[in-house]
Amino acid sequence: MITAPTMAKVSDSGARHVGISDPGEQALSRFLTGLLGDGYAGEVAQDVASRLVSATDNSIYQVLPAAVLYPRGGEDINRIVRAARSDPQRPIALSPRGGGTGTNGQSLTRGVVVDVSRHLNRIVSLDVVGRTVVVEPGVVLDQLNEYLKPYGLFFPPTVSTATRATIGGMVATDASGKVRIPIHSGRVFRFEAGHRSDLMSATIPI
Ligand SMILES: Cc1cc2nc3c(=O)[nH]c(=O)nc-3n(C[C@H](O)[C@H](O)[C@H](O)COP(=O)(O)OP(=O)(O)OC[C@H]3O[C@@H](n4cnc5c(N)ncnc54)[C@H](O)[C@@H]3O)c2cc1C
Repeated sequence: MITAPTMAKVSDSGARHVGISDPGEQALSRFLTGLLGDGYAGEVAQDVASRLVSATDNSIYQVLPAAVLYPRGGEDINRIVRAARSDPQRPIALSPRGGGTGTNGQSLTRGVVVDVSRHLNRIVSLDVVGRTVVVEPGVVLDQLNEYLKPYGLFFPPTVSTATRATIGGMVATDASGKVRIPIHSGRVFRFEAGHRSDLMSATIPI
């Protein structure tokens, strides 16, 4: 059985590897107070069990986060980012997480994990003629292709982790192919797949 102190030890080496920082108790408490005061509607998990689940992915690394957040929508994401940046001297490190199947430990952090797979997993709309589908970032690849099947369409990138890999995680790790993808976050802007998305709905070509 892995205990929290052991994980902390392991996380020290992980932290050096991926360049992440522990916010410390006071800064974390200020962050969470600010977040809840701003109307955050998602869940906050600080118990060891939830943190342990987010302490590993498909890599060799183990890094215990200070807390895990499960935002309920785009506004919650904005609230999280605002609260994390409220003290410019000590910003809170945030790490988005989808299915946790990444192979290099990129979703691991000693800061705060933002898990979008629990609630941000809706397929928003489909344009069969234009061949685009609007999805939230926690939509799993197999879920998307199951939805598209009756229309004779599919999202072509295949990953062996398709039962758990999310569209957000695929875009962030470049597993979605070299396409340009517009991201909706109130306004629309474009970015190259492989760059970090803004965790909001993505319109993806199918
Ligand atoms: C061609 C190809 C290339 C691949 N390259 C890589 C690679 O370079 N590294 C790798 O680890 N795996 C890679 N994989 C494996 C594959 O990317 C993962 O199994 C899967 O796509 C990750 O999805 P996930 O939801 O499990 O993401 P997670 O493991 O949860 O996260 C992976 C990364 O994406 C970020 N992320 C997750 N969701 C979001 C979001 N909504 N917005 C912004 N960032 C987000 C995380 O912070 C983390 O950096 C590759 C696969 C293929 C087919």
